[in-house]
Amino acid sequence: MNTKKLQVLATSKLSRLAGLMRYSSFAPPPFYLRIMLTYECNLGCSFCNQKELMDVAGNEELDVETLEKIEDNIDFPYKPKIHLFGGEPTVHENIEEVIDLFHERGYRVSMTTNGVDAGWMASDTMEGLDEINISVNTTEYSYVLEAVERINSFSSPPLINVNCPITPQNQNDLARISRDFKDLGISAIVFNHLSFSREETINEEIDIETVRSQKRKVEDMDIPSIFFPPVREEDFEEYYLNPSFPGTKCIAPWLKMEILPSGKVASCPKLVPDKDVVVGDATEENLSEVWNNEKFRQIRKRIHEDGVFEDSYCFRCCFRRYR
Ligand code: SF4
Ligand code: SF4
Repeated sequence: MNTKKLQVLATSKLSRLAGLMRYSSFAPPPFYLRIMLTYECNLGCSFCNQKELMDVAGNEELDVETLEKIEDNIDFPYKPKIHLFGGEPTVHENIEEVIDLFHERGYRVSMTTNGVDAGWMASDTMEGLDEINISVNTTEYSYVLEAVERINSFSSPPLINVNCPITPQNQNDLARISRDFKDLGISAIVFNHLSFSREETINEEIDIETVRSQKRKVEDMDIPSIFFPPVREEDFEEYYLNPSFPGTKCIAPWLKMEILPSGKVASCPKLVPDKDVVVGDATEENLSEVWNNEKFRQIRKRIHEDGVFEDSYCFRCCFRRYR
């Protein structure tokens, strides 16, 4: 079975498993911890909500000492995968030490980066990563191609996934982007349908026929590709233009734990500005207790009953399915 089929199978199995888990407000230990090291970023993408988060939560950064405390509080029966993200994790003052900390304590470590700091991508620290997601967030992305080539020149490079949000600026170029990465040894290229935050942000500049035709071209190429969240081609108009087109219930609070730059735990970082979703403090509490505490279970119950949070980033979020 090729990589693409394996990934689609893994995603669908995980979704089904999470779908079953959703009937209980208790959740088995998370598959992974997402640690938001900082809200800072060295790019300014139009579709990004980091600024909004930073305005509410303050411009904090998780320092290494605090991360050591958090690691001491990870008390699940197995070590979850650690996923580092932000903002942009490579602007963290001590990113090398952060990767070493988790790598040396035996975690699988992954990271999402925009690839802008290609110099850093050449450093030995990269060897502490098991997996890296590099985002193509701009129309001029030669720096990402360079970063991928450098990473692959290491003796044991991490798995490389390329993420590419579909925007009005690149919608005509999805096939070209795939072609550019085709022979660079990446594990997959993931095209993300835009995750509009709310009804009023639905983007009519996306040309549905163009995206449909680009998707077919990409899928005809010999490169593992995924369009995410999965939306049937015949439903593209509904996804992009119809505010009442429904999504399924959210599965995220059963799968992953989110740690903010303040060290607080939230059921979902995207909702922090508007909703009461902070459930604990990873610097002071054992994480297994936070994971199934009263507040976290109330949030799971609410999502099970209502599907998602109304009038929020849930509206078109990749943790839902659309059909
Ligand atoms: S690279 Fe990521 S964090 Fe930075 S502005 Fe773009 S979307 Fe936001
Ligand atoms: S659907 Fe809502 S609660 Fe779930 S991950 Fe998305 S924004 Fe967060």
